[in-house]
Amino acid sequence: MASATQDTKTSEHLQLNECFGAHNYHPLPVVIESGKGAWVTDVEGNKYLDMLSAYSALNFGYSHERLIAAATKQLNKVTLTSRAFHNDQLGPWCREICELTGFEAALPMNSGAEACETAIKMARKWGYEKKGVAKNQAEIICAKGNFHGRTTTIISFSTDEQYKAGFGPYTPGFPLVPFGDASAVEAAMTKNTVAVFVEPIQAESGILVPKDGYLKALRDICTKHNVLLIFDEIQTGLCRTGDRFAWQHEGEDARPDAMCLGKALGGGVLPISAVVSSREAMDVFHPGDHGSTFGGNPLACAVSRVAMDMIRNDGLDERSREMGAHFKSKLQAVGAPAVKEIRGRGLLIGVQIKPEYPKARWFCERFMAEGILCKDAHEDVIRFAPPLIIEKSDIDWAMDRIAPALLSAKTNK
Ligand SMILES: *Cc1c(COP(=O)(O)O)cnc(C)c1O
Repeated sequence: MASATQDTKTSEHLQLNECFGAHNYHPLPVVIESGKGAWVTDVEGNKYLDMLSAYSALNFGYSHERLIAAATKQLNKVTLTSRAFHNDQLGPWCREICELTGFEAALPMNSGAEACETAIKMARKWGYEKKGVAKNQAEIICAKGNFHGRTTTIISFSTDEQYKAGFGPYTPGFPLVPFGDASAVEAAMTKNTVAVFVEPIQAESGILVPKDGYLKALRDICTKHNVLLIFDEIQTGLCRTGDRFAWQHEGEDARPDAMCLGKALGGGVLPISAVVSSREAMDVFHPGDHGSTFGGNPLACAVSRVAMDMIRNDGLDERSREMGAHFKSKLQAVGAPAVKEIRGRGLLIGVQIKPEYPKARWFCERFMAEGILCKDAHEDVIRFAPPLIIEKSDIDWAMDRIAPALLSAKTNK
């Protein structure tokens, strides 16, 4: 049996995954061995510019010195403690994430899906205890086209057939409304509504940016109906869209009651996610109600503290705005006939391909051959989300290759 040693080349790795791995992904045929900044090197020694950043988990790029130093230091001290005891990283992490986000309390988990599950549990219990909703009747209004992760409850309110099919029975209690339509949210309110739970920009659905005023309108509706407003900022948060959090694009008037964070929260080094909220909402959790063995572990917290420090002090919001504007204008300047629309905010950019042209994956394969890694979001959208530390010269280098590939596409008609 083959073992995955360093000199195993691409085809051997693909075969190992084919033979021994689950087939729940369809990755591009590149096997990454190392990464630095926005660049990775594969097992053949080829270099690629990463324009996906692990779906925004790698906002700081690969092997960031400060993150690696923090991880190494903490590795040599203590990595995991039982939540039956305290550790000296969790308390400071809680304070720092509250300062970063402007919320009063934080609950750490590991994956983004777990943060969303936590928010759902919090909202339901808040509804029963604080709002007086009848037992087991709580409703959380979600948006069509949502993506909040892969657990059985979360896929219960997905509108993507592939995410759901074969995994029933589904968890009830999640009425769905069209994304971007605040009046539909208001119309869906009942006495049992405990929360409205949406992404401020739907990333997985193809970088769908709602009209300005949508988030503020949701805020007003939730306040009026005494319902929690919860934003899933797992992909859009931490400077990805040019603001620290995407909802801040509409100002403090759009502030939610709670927010889910993940992905870049662990600096691309370790998984750590969180729900931040008011003290009132968080205090529905009592000892034993909820938890996670690895949630709040000192290794993840130590790295996350450095990641949050960089979010606060390194000007990544401004950088995301500037680089995003530059990238977008260069994409627009190509004038490729295959492109239907270029949209997004900051360094979260979607290029929608017209239906009569090849699927987005076809373009991603072309880009890969030119040394650029990115991914389709839905069949017809190419998603560009490079690390926020990407250099302007890297974007220009990429555009010299992206432009001809975009222009080379032929219609299927
Ligand atoms: C990635 C993502 C999740 C799920 O995070 P996992 O860490 O993969 O569980 C949830 N919500 C949004 C908006 C995401 O982009």
